[in-house]
Amino acid sequence: LRRSGASSDPKANSVGGVRVTHPERLVFSVPRITKLEVVRYHEDIGEYLLPHLAARPLSLLRCPQGTGGECFFQKHVETTLPSGVESVEVPASDGTDTLVMVNSVEGIVALAQYGNVEFHTWGARAPRPDRPDRITMDLDPDPDLPWAQVVEAAQLTRVLLEELGLAAFLKTTGGKGLHIVTPIKATRSWDEVKAFTKGLASRLASVAPQRFTARLSKSSRGGRIFIDYLRNGRGATAVASYSLRAREGAPVSVPLHWDELSAKKDVRAEHFNLRNAVARAPESETAWQDYAAQRRTLTVKMFRALGVD
Ligand code: ATP
Ligand code: MN
Ligand code: MN
Repeated sequence: LRRSGASSDPKANSVGGVRVTHPERLVFSVPRITKLEVVRYHEDIGEYLLPHLAARPLSLLRCPQGTGGECFFQKHVETTLPSGVESVEVPASDGTDTLVMVNSVEGIVALAQYGNVEFHTWGARAPRPDRPDRITMDLDPDPDLPWAQVVEAAQLTRVLLEELGLAAFLKTTGGKGLHIVTPIKATRSWDEVKAFTKGLASRLASVAPQRFTARLSKSSRGGRIFIDYLRNGRGATAVASYSLRAREGAPVSVPLHWDELSAKKDVRAEHFNLRNAVARAPESETAWQDYAAQRRTLTVKMFRALGVD
């Protein structure tokens, strides 16, 4: 899966067998990053990104004119899919929805050529899109909150999850907050998992009300961190690890070791980016190496411990 010889020629505009159209188009202006560089990033990161996408319904953020132009989310399959990109049927209120899914590096590269910048995933996998297999606690801090307090909040979230008997894996978002991800056995419904995560958010807000709020409105945030448990509802998505973000600096969401989370070093936004994420990927991989082994069932006892019935 390493980069093929052809793409190491800076003039070549074929990447992993995919012909790149408008290779010189600027996708990011700060720093200046061309479409060819973006497609090559996807070829290089593909082996790391793929496990986070495979079998999951996706929501794609496409920016066909670059991130300075109009970007839009796409979930539904359009008539023509690039080679390597598949579709997945999920139950919907009025029958079924046909959503995008990618199970190959070829498909990842093809979508990058297609103008895709961000990859967001469901918290459930085919063939059981109705049974979530992970929890994402999305920490959304008030922009004025010092980084040290975001660090403390993430650590407190981890303590609560671990006290319940669940694992907590950490990732940057490439944005203002952090994601804490818990692998669960795919036994519960979306409604049950959402109720559980609402219970987690409420518990955090009652233990540290000066630090957390479980209420959505920005006005009630006031120097606090909104624990966005709504990432855990049916059809909701979270940005995938190793996905690029369509924001200044070409940030990338990366898995972190807990001991990399330090009040002294703010690792948000473009700290990890298109130009350094590939080199750091092996380090990121070790941070999440126990992920599959830590998958747990959400038990009745855990629901009771949070006061959720
Ligand atoms: P940040 O750290 O800046 O909050 P984030 O990725 O967590 O970065 P949020 O705004 O908190 O950004 O959104 C959380 C997730 O919700 C996103 O990763 C994305 O998957 C999903 N999301 C947000 N807005 C939309 C949207 N308009 N359409 C589809 N999905 C969205
Ligand atoms: Mn967020
Ligand atoms: Mn959010």
